[in-house]
Amino acid sequence: MISNNKKLIENKVFETPFIDTHEHLVEESERLDCIDPIIPCDDWALLLNHYFSFDLISAGISKSERDRLFSNEISPVDKWNILDEYWPYLKNTVSGFVFRNTIRTLYGIDEISAETINEIQVRYEKTRKKGFYRHIIQDLANIKHCHVHSPVKACRGSETSDILYHDIVLNGLIQVSQNPYTITDNFNIKTLSDWHALIDLWYSDYNQIAKGVKIGNAYFRRLNFERLEASEVENIFQNKINSQTISPVDEKKLQDYLFWYAVDKATIYGLPVKMHTGQWAMNNVMNMQWVKDNPADCASLCRQSPNTKFIFYHICYPYYEEMLSLAKNYSNAYIDMCWSWSINPVAAKDFLKKFILTVPNNKILTFGGDDKIVENLIGHSIIARKGISQALSELVNDNWIMINDALNLIEYLMFRNAENLFDKTSYRR
Ligand SMILES: [Zn+2]
Repeated sequence: MISNNKKLIENKVFETPFIDTHEHLVEESERLDCIDPIIPCDDWALLLNHYFSFDLISAGISKSERDRLFSNEISPVDKWNILDEYWPYLKNTVSGFVFRNTIRTLYGIDEISAETINEIQVRYEKTRKKGFYRHIIQDLANIKHCHVHSPVKACRGSETSDILYHDIVLNGLIQVSQNPYTITDNFNIKTLSDWHALIDLWYSDYNQIAKGVKIGNAYFRRLNFERLEASEVENIFQNKINSQTISPVDEKKLQDYLFWYAVDKATIYGLPVKMHTGQWAMNNVMNMQWVKDNPADCASLCRQSPNTKFIFYHICYPYYEEMLSLAKNYSNAYIDMCWSWSINPVAAKDFLKKFILTVPNNKILTFGGDDKIVENLIGHSIIARKGISQALSELVNDNWIMINDALNLIEYLMFRNAENLFDKTSYRR
């Protein structure tokens, strides 16, 4: 009976499509063109060029070895000689499993080795062709569509507009930077009012396309944004835009002001505000005290703007217990489990079990690979489906929930909550 329930749950989870609420994909044509520097090489090693590469750094690979692994300078087959040394240490981490699940499903190859490397490269080249995004995302990873935080532009329409929906990325509009990622052609910035107009333009151009706005500034500061008046930051902005040095106190004031300007605008347009919390991707810079402060800072944001729907990413790993408390208490706090399955799948499974028993079940989104390489969505989605199946099976097995209730929950966890939050809610327009 127990194993029968497990099978029933697993079958339904693997047959049910995800709505994927967070990726960093470039457009398919950009991938095929190998746009620099986001797509640094065009062979099998590219599949390791995101989270796996951060774990390689953690394991001790040198900069020159890493650069060679992801360059076009050495032959794809010779690249195995670089990975070989580290593979035994990474193959049983979840980064290794993402890769192994991907090549098993996509190429029909169980293990990477000196014997299989040639065939992996042949299959990589055969797969990477026009139309492969749709085939991988919908046919193989069983994903309806993806929300995208573009590595190229603060927002844009997609070539495949029924599969990729770009969020409006506010990072560079909150932390003032003069680059083409945020400043559109011919936009002349002289005053704070011009900067308001720039933010307004992104919203007016893209509010109908975007499913939400994305804020990744937790990589650079605490999330303790406070409300200020425009008059308090006008001079600071002037100095900043004229490339004068401003103090850390003034920098915080300016970011605080622009954060609330942009977030209030999102709220007016009915766009949920998605925020990075927890673990950082890049190595050797993570400020763990800031990360630890994220849950309390998020609660303050929820209090300051009760009409904004905040979606907190990555279960604020490793401080996920606090995020259960936050989502249980605040009506406007939602949790997105994107990336968490591929940081620590056992913690993510436990988080989901606890969430189901603790927090109203409409407030969770369970999947996003948070990756820039489309092939890896296969590997990430397999890990997430395995974790979701285990979480539900264990809750049934331990007599917390009934098998029929577990089966009924699956669609809500995997796509209905996302539909209700981003598409169907009266909150939007
Ligand atoms: Zn991300």
